[in-house]
Amino acid sequence: MQSLLNELRHIVGAAHVYTDGDLTAWEQDWRKRSHGKALAVLRPASTEEVAQIVKACAAFCTANPASGVSLVPQGGNTGLVVGGTPDLSGRQIVLSLQRLNAVRNLDSDNMTMTVEAGCILQNLQERAEEADLLFPLSLAAEGTCTIGGNLATNAGGTQVVRYGNTRDLCLGLEVVTAQGEVWQGLTGLRKDNTGYDLRNLYIGSEGTLGIITAATLKLYPLPTAQLTAWAAVPTLEDAVSLLGLAHRHLGAGLTGFEVMGQFALSLVAKHFAQLLVPLHLDTPFCVLLENSGHASEADARTQFERLLETALDQGCVTDAVVAENLSQAKQLWHIRESIPLAQAQEGLNIKHDISIPVSSIPNFVRATDALLQQAIPGVRLVNFGHLGDGNLHYNVQAPEGMDAAIFLQEHEEEVNTLVFDSVAAFNGSISAEHGVGSLKVDKLEHYKSPVALDLMRAIKRALDPQNLMNPGRVVRV
Ligand code: FAD
Ligand code: ZN
Repeated sequence: MQSLLNELRHIVGAAHVYTDGDLTAWEQDWRKRSHGKALAVLRPASTEEVAQIVKACAAFCTANPASGVSLVPQGGNTGLVVGGTPDLSGRQIVLSLQRLNAVRNLDSDNMTMTVEAGCILQNLQERAEEADLLFPLSLAAEGTCTIGGNLATNAGGTQVVRYGNTRDLCLGLEVVTAQGEVWQGLTGLRKDNTGYDLRNLYIGSEGTLGIITAATLKLYPLPTAQLTAWAAVPTLEDAVSLLGLAHRHLGAGLTGFEVMGQFALSLVAKHFAQLLVPLHLDTPFCVLLENSGHASEADARTQFERLLETALDQGCVTDAVVAENLSQAKQLWHIRESIPLAQAQEGLNIKHDISIPVSSIPNFVRATDALLQQAIPGVRLVNFGHLGDGNLHYNVQAPEGMDAAIFLQEHEEEVNTLVFDSVAAFNGSISAEHGVGSLKVDKLEHYKSPVALDLMRAIKRALDPQNLMNPGRVVRV
């Protein structure tokens, strides 16, 4: 093992190989639910160094097949499914991409930018804006997460209803394969039908097939006007009706559509009293809508007001406010983004990140709420999410007065089974955004079709025959 570590020190420089001291920042996951032990943390600075690291580890494993050495790529370590931190074996090497953080090129005419994997998402948004362009991927972890991690998990966020997931925002990739070869696929092409889609195979593979070192991303015109509204809706059916109306009235201007249940908002009001949550006391659900346009702000406002008037006439909205200015709009988004934090303040809870066809969401929630209440009387349901794309954070909190740790210990498995069975019955997905990591490997075995799992294993074996890349995550071989 020492010989491998010496070779790795030679490749990246001893200052960028950590083996001693406090490695918690790399060994512990964001939610602090998993604490691993790394053989080393490596911080390479270039694609070439990443390739040499992988080659060295692959050669070491060929010579020492029982060593158990493997690589865990890591970006900002904000992942929520324990996919980017090492296990407890002490044999996994964390490969942090954070020093690969250059914007290699921004091509305004082609509306693309080519960036390295370790770039922080927020820095990329700002870099695009400096060129009067928009990189639309947006999520609450954007100040810390990296574009490599976003691609590896095919992250979603709040703008998916208009711009799609990270996969939809990527035109090309540079990847270091499990053999340490560099696949140079950084095209800025919007059309390319030359064989299998390797790019989309690596996107969403959570570091199990290769290491993403750079990407060419799509950019869009910056909207000239961006307006936010907050509407009270009586039922989830009404929220779905409002979504249909919003699509018809706003067209491509509809860039955000978030739903929030009353209990979720009451937790924000309770734990962050300074935030002044509007309308939630009188209605079971609120919806946050965003309209981004390229005409004047006055035009966008008129369009928004017409939509809300129609919705009020039809009864799917009972009250609504449109933010007067950017600071009010930010406050409304801040309330939405504070739900997970308020929930954490209330105590440990069971999180689900599911998707259901939008049309089935009201029935899914009604049926699943009833099943949970029957199984655990008084259980509290924190319901919110990206209704515009069918993705709900359907979270489950202990009944009032029950110790949260005991609730998790006694009920987590039961709750997960009940929710995921219901998701399956409504043709949904058990992971819409966060991925599989190690947290949901067993669940995937159960809920994904055997044919799909066999195909996934065949791909994993073909691309990574030594099982060097993030083993045990996504799919077991
Ligand atoms: P990491 O956590 O470091 O890694 C995630 C996975 O990707 C791991 O499996 C890792 O091995 C792999 N990986 C990382 N970099 C590479 C690389 N260069 N090559 C190959 N594999 C790699 N997610 C959403 O989709 N939508 C949201 O709205 C959202 N909101 C969030 C809000 C908060 C407050 C937090 C903490 C997380 C949120 N997430 C969300 C989850 C998380 O931020 C995303 O999954 C993000 O894309 C992870 O990026 P990262 O750089 O932190 O990756
Ligand atoms: Zn989300």
